[in-house]
Amino acid sequence: MSLQVVGVPVLNDNYVWLMHDKVAGETVVIDPAVAEPVLAAAAERGWKITQIWNTHWHPDHIGGNAEIKAATGCTVTGPAAEATKIDTLDVTVKEGDMAMIGGLRAEVWDVPAHTAGHIAYYLPSAGIVFVGDTLFAMGCGRLFEGTAAQMFANMQRLARLDGETKVYCAHEYTLSNAKFALHVDPDNRELIHRTANVEAMRARGEPTVPTTIALERATNPFMRAKDVDDLARLRTAKDNF
Ligand code: ZN
Ligand code: FE
Repeated sequence: MSLQVVGVPVLNDNYVWLMHDKVAGETVVIDPAVAEPVLAAAAERGWKITQIWNTHWHPDHIGGNAEIKAATGCTVTGPAAEATKIDTLDVTVKEGDMAMIGGLRAEVWDVPAHTAGHIAYYLPSAGIVFVGDTLFAMGCGRLFEGTAAQMFANMQRLARLDGETKVYCAHEYTLSNAKFALHVDPDNRELIHRTANVEAMRARGEPTVPTTIALERATNPFMRAKDVDDLARLRTAKDNF
């Protein structure tokens, strides 16, 4: 596989992902909260940023668009349904559309709930999905502009992906998510084991993202929710945890 994905930790807990295709000489930045450290990370590796892909309009996902675009001349792709909220977009995409890095295809999925037009980028041949603020390690995004029913559908759809699929989310929320997950699912042995791992990784200053679909199926209370009401109850409980 000629694809490489590198995470740049920025702000309090954001990850900006750089996906590099060596063969095509392309680098896609996913959800640049800021520009400077992203440009530096690319320069360090001799990578030319050719595209930005946004998952949703929140400032901590698009804040670096303008500066990176000005510095590199890259093309910015993002959700059609949020085009009026992202003034740096060149290409708008929605469910059923494709985004390309070199010869590799990313399916665009509509995953509304955190925001009304939130999208995800799934690269089947690479086994990678960029989910923005929809799915987190042992958690899910807050329901700012959507419903529990939408988030439940998103979780179910992501859960159907191959277990090996690597999930790149946009925040390091893993430890606090694990505490809530343990609170609602105290006897889950895989969850207990994973939480210990995550605590050790964070103590060493390591990122806990990407995660995998298999890990989330086993330990994520929102992906394991039985139905919409169950997810709604969990989401409200987490908001007040
Ligand atoms: Zn967000
Ligand atoms: Fe965010």
